[in-house]
Amino acid sequence: MRGYTGMRGIASVPSYVIMQPTTLCNLGCTYCYLPHRTANRRMTLPVAQAVARSVNEWAAQRRFSVVWHGGEPLATGREHLASLLAPFSRDVEQHVQTNATLIDDAWCEFFTAHRMRVSVSVDGPEELNRERVTRAGRPSYDRVMRGVAALRRHGIGFSALCVVSNPVPGLATRIYEYFLELGCDVLGINIEEQEGVNTRDNAYPEESVVGFWAELVAAWRRNPGIHLREVEWSLRYADAVLNGTADDVLPRQLDPIPTVAYDGSVVLLSPELAGFTDRRYGDFSSGNVLRTPLPEIIAGATATGWIREFLAGVESCRASCAYFGFCGGAHAANRYFEHGRFDGTVTDHCRNSKMRLLEGVLQHARGA
Ligand code: SF4
Repeated sequence: MRGYTGMRGIASVPSYVIMQPTTLCNLGCTYCYLPHRTANRRMTLPVAQAVARSVNEWAAQRRFSVVWHGGEPLATGREHLASLLAPFSRDVEQHVQTNATLIDDAWCEFFTAHRMRVSVSVDGPEELNRERVTRAGRPSYDRVMRGVAALRRHGIGFSALCVVSNPVPGLATRIYEYFLELGCDVLGINIEEQEGVNTRDNAYPEESVVGFWAELVAAWRRNPGIHLREVEWSLRYADAVLNGTADDVLPRQLDPIPTVAYDGSVVLLSPELAGFTDRRYGDFSSGNVLRTPLPEIIAGATATGWIREFLAGVESCRASCAYFGFCGGAHAANRYFEHGRFDGTVTDHCRNSKMRLLEGVLQHARGA
């Protein structure tokens, strides 16, 4: 599987930018990685204007997205979010990742008016949402379902993001069938990660995780009514290996994925690092859009010490890992939060979400 030989520097133009309209979140999910979610630090208009200057140019030339992420982006309020959206041209695809608890008719009208694509965070059937609680520790599921009902009432299609905290066989079919019924168009499955302020262990038995993914593939193949992000990607890769085109699956360069924090500071490559500081690496940011245009920040990425260390880690992965052609060297934040540095290779995250995912697809193929 190693095969992949392309160089993996950092692309000069990202395919999307993540914006943090507020650090605040109205929930207190127990697995959340965000460090400042009880503080309402709001993005100012000059930050959005500075980002829009670059993004509008990129969007005039190619498909380009802005993803409003938080905190909980709706917690900032419609008026504030509208003011931050205003500098962006209509060419820009606007997305919002939300816990859905605040969605009502007024928000649905807002999404329609601003042509926003909505992705909701929900972990499957009610009993699997025990980690998704209010700040007072009460269940949030009923509020999430009210939000989803509002989306359906207004005919707004949505994606879903599901965190799985205990990947075992027997669970995947239940989860997939739940989302089929929920009516989402696209589903992403994240195995819980040890990241940020969530320091819970994420080492699971190999056979459980492989079995979980294999079962998910089987459930999807019985009724592929949803775009299932991880499974479709794995099947594309497996197909490319069989066709001898695996080298063309991964992009040649890493997407810089700029995350613009409320104050204009920019963290590249890994949104989960935004808001953290470390004695060795500082605040992980590569600049601030209030002082430096975004393209310049991206062009100077390797001036940031941790990014150089990360790129060395990617090369170590390339030299040592049979899954590199599929994975491409995985996420910087997972390396940092699991190893305390960026140039290590194998993490529990990559075991769960790369190696065992691919093994699950192969297990399914062997049994099919
Ligand atoms: S991050 Fe993990 S799966 Fe990905 S290439 Fe590196 S060692 Fe392999």
